[in-house]
Amino acid sequence: MNNIRTLISEKEIATAVADLSERVAADFVDSQLTILGVLTGSIVLVTDMMRQIELPHQLGMIQASSYRGKTTTSGELRINIDFLPEIRGRDVLLVDDIFDTGKTITKIKEQLELFEPKQIRTAVLLWKKSRSEVEATPDYYCFDIPDEFVVGYGLDYNGEYRNLPYIGVIEE
Ligand code: 5GP
Ligand code: MG
Repeated sequence: MNNIRTLISEKEIATAVADLSERVAADFVDSQLTILGVLTGSIVLVTDMMRQIELPHQLGMIQASSYRGKTTTSGELRINIDFLPEIRGRDVLLVDDIFDTGKTITKIKEQLELFEPKQIRTAVLLWKKSRSEVEATPDYYCFDIPDEFVVGYGLDYNGEYRNLPYIGVIEE
């Protein structure tokens, strides 16, 4: 078992997610909100957020998988919309775990625009600001983190560590 160095504690995450949910709830009053999570990394954030957003809303999931090595993002992205609910005319909040280069969210957003939602806004737990390779920025984020590979709170390394309640860095 590897040692994990805590980068963001469970308590810090709870406070930030509560604040994020409050901002979202305030901004989406009187809208037809659909929270759309990107599988698999966003599930912990989505389930925490949806229970704190006290507005009627729908929930959907889409899957994005890229052909990549273990820890780095490569160009090709496959987007699976089999579980996409009807979003035409709706206000979509697209939720992912992390905005790294920004390519994943940008490409998903492009695909979703084809279904003619009223608007799409993006929310992530983590943003590696220094790595951004796109013009877009997330509309909502909780933490700006350094360029380190992180795990926990939904984020994996080779499919594991998603269940850690905090964000950490695997130490050699
Ligand atoms: P982007 O397209 O923004 O470069 O990458 C976003 C995706 O890459 C995330 O949804 C996530 O799956 C993965 N990713 C980027 N950085 C990290 C990281 O530090 N840890 C983990 N576990 N996944 C990451
Ligand atoms: Mg992901």
